[in-house]
Amino acid sequence: MKNIAVLGSTGSIGTQTLDIVRNNSDLKVVGLCAGNNVDLMEKQVREFNPLIAVMGNDKAASDLKVRLADMDVKVLSGMDGMIEMSTMKEADVLVTAIVGMIGIRPTVAAIKAHKDIALANKETLVTAGHIIMPLASEYNVSILPVDSEHSAIFQSMHGENRERVSKILLTASGGPFRGMTKDELKNKTKFDALKHPNWAMGQKITIDSASLVNKGLEVMEAKWLFGVERDKIEVVIHPQSIIHSMVEYADGGIMAQLGMPDMKLPIQYALFYPDRRPMDGKRVNFFDLKSITFEEPDIDTFLGLKYAYEAMDKGGSMPTVYNAANEMAVAKFLNEEIKFLDIYEIIRGAMDNHKIIDNPSLDDILNVEKETYEYIKGR
Ligand code: NDP
Repeated sequence: MKNIAVLGSTGSIGTQTLDIVRNNSDLKVVGLCAGNNVDLMEKQVREFNPLIAVMGNDKAASDLKVRLADMDVKVLSGMDGMIEMSTMKEADVLVTAIVGMIGIRPTVAAIKAHKDIALANKETLVTAGHIIMPLASEYNVSILPVDSEHSAIFQSMHGENRERVSKILLTASGGPFRGMTKDELKNKTKFDALKHPNWAMGQKITIDSASLVNKGLEVMEAKWLFGVERDKIEVVIHPQSIIHSMVEYADGGIMAQLGMPDMKLPIQYALFYPDRRPMDGKRVNFFDLKSITFEEPDIDTFLGLKYAYEAMDKGGSMPTVYNAANEMAVAKFLNEEIKFLDIYEIIRGAMDNHKIIDNPSLDDILNVEKETYEYIKGR
């Protein structure tokens, strides 16, 4: 029996993680955490019977507590609750399916409590990879990638000598706006941006996919997960999303992982690694694939990737600024306060305004996040 706690259980990755639990009787949910969705959390608690249920704020937690008065579950709230759940002695694995930098502190606490991490929450590695990866080695815990591209890279490295990796080929669908010019992007609304051609995901990552910020975050995530420098990570646009990423080795051989665009496979692989459990669902049929194509990313139009490269090259606290500025810009875009291209402008402004801190501590990272938000609010 493997006991799991899920940070972000009501979201896209969280609910798919619970689907995997439904199909595997040797997985048990011991902790659940969500933000505001009390209705779904109540249902999840009644179905999975965890020991702890956490809501993002006091109001949602009080509501949940009243609704679950007939159940033997500890209801907690906010960051203290998230940390208590992430470190609970009954959990073996923490699935970080929460969105944004808020995942950093619970992830660090879970590692220190010797929990393996099934990591979807890429923002944590982007901003604090230099803290998380050494900490995971020190505490001898595994960081198992859930992101489909990173799972593909992980699978393509299985049994290989990592010293022989010559290049990581990180694939990207290109999102709903692939091939468009800046002029065409000007008036795109959130409804246009939320129409991802291949993947059904949470709103923030869907907007990030349209801006290619998601790919920028993923390049940074790959750097930390696999210890590879930026010049060895190449982004390849592959609109069909069948090849989830590839690894090229010193002899020119390339290993790839292919499959349907369905997050359940990488989630399940992370939970049972190195086993490959059976899974129902549609399979790739090569005769149905009319074509399988590749393009170079247009980083002068989709500045999300260009600015990510710059943030990586500058290093230190700059990736935090890139990420925090994007988090706030996407929230504003989803709120219809700004236009699509303003996302890039906000990231640019915040990066230009920032004085880099080398090797930032956890407190530095959280302060830089706060300062970035304040800078954007004051513009
Ligand atoms: P969603 O927006 O669908 O879900 C986010 C989850 O986090 C929800 O359960 C939400 O709760 C919870 N949450 C948000 N804020 C708080 C808070 N303050 N306190 C507690 N819980 C909170 O996101 P996704 O599932 O799409 O993405 C999650 C992470 O996984 C992201 O980092 C994303 O980049 C990554 N990822 C996602 C993929 C996907 O296919 N969706 C693919 C690869 C990576 P509630 O809704 O109840 O408020």
